[in-house]
Amino acid sequence: MSNRRPIVAGNWKMNGNLALIKQMEALFSNAELSHVDVVVCPPFPYLGGFNGSAFALGGQTISHFESGAHTGETAASMLQEMNCQYVILGHSERRADNNESNELVAEKVDVALKHGLIPLFCVGEPEDIRESGQLFDYIAAQLDAVISKVGIAAFNDIVIAYEPVWAIGTGKTASPAQAQEVHAFIRQHLAKQESDIAKQCVILYGGSVKGSNAVELFSQPDVDGGLIGGASLNPEDFLSICLAA
Ligand code: PEP
Repeated sequence: MSNRRPIVAGNWKMNGNLALIKQMEALFSNAELSHVDVVVCPPFPYLGGFNGSAFALGGQTISHFESGAHTGETAASMLQEMNCQYVILGHSERRADNNESNELVAEKVDVALKHGLIPLFCVGEPEDIRESGQLFDYIAAQLDAVISKVGIAAFNDIVIAYEPVWAIGTGKTASPAQAQEVHAFIRQHLAKQESDIAKQCVILYGGSVKGSNAVELFSQPDVDGGLIGGASLNPEDFLSICLAA
């Protein structure tokens, strides 16, 4: 049995509104969720709209710059000031839409840590990489870029999310065995450097998780919770996922 505390994080992406915040807060303030850390990552303008303590808040990205003339960007210090504890970094949509390389993601992880934010650091392979048999090399390269920038000890304060790109928003969930296989690989990869850190590192699964498949996914020994996209916009479904963690 691990003593890792489960986390379920909702990534609203560019969705949601003030009414959804009210619904979420009403439902979650009455739920018994002492076994899990629940995180909501709304679009930036909505961060100030949350007033309860039913869940922790996270951003969906940060700039790798500290401040200055970078129109449209958001600094890590600003998220911290808006009571965020977490930030999603390296999400596959940012890697694809904004050309975020492994090295840029590593810089952002470094900046987040310096500002006391916990990175929800995403790794995951596109379908063609899995089919070509390069899955583990691909994930290792994503991990190694961050390890070489911030050092293995920093993984005490980093949450990893394994999100196979082919499972995100597609309804195609990785099977529990597929998820477990990659989570175990990630842990073994960290253990090559520092076995205690590998044992305590929280590794989330993301990719079409729903209330109906969460129990089986989360029961895998190396799956410590989930990063949830679409289903995090449905308060009841998101709650049932949190209860499954
Ligand atoms: C995500 O965007 O991180 C995600 C896992 O999305 P979905 O749950 O919709 O597949």
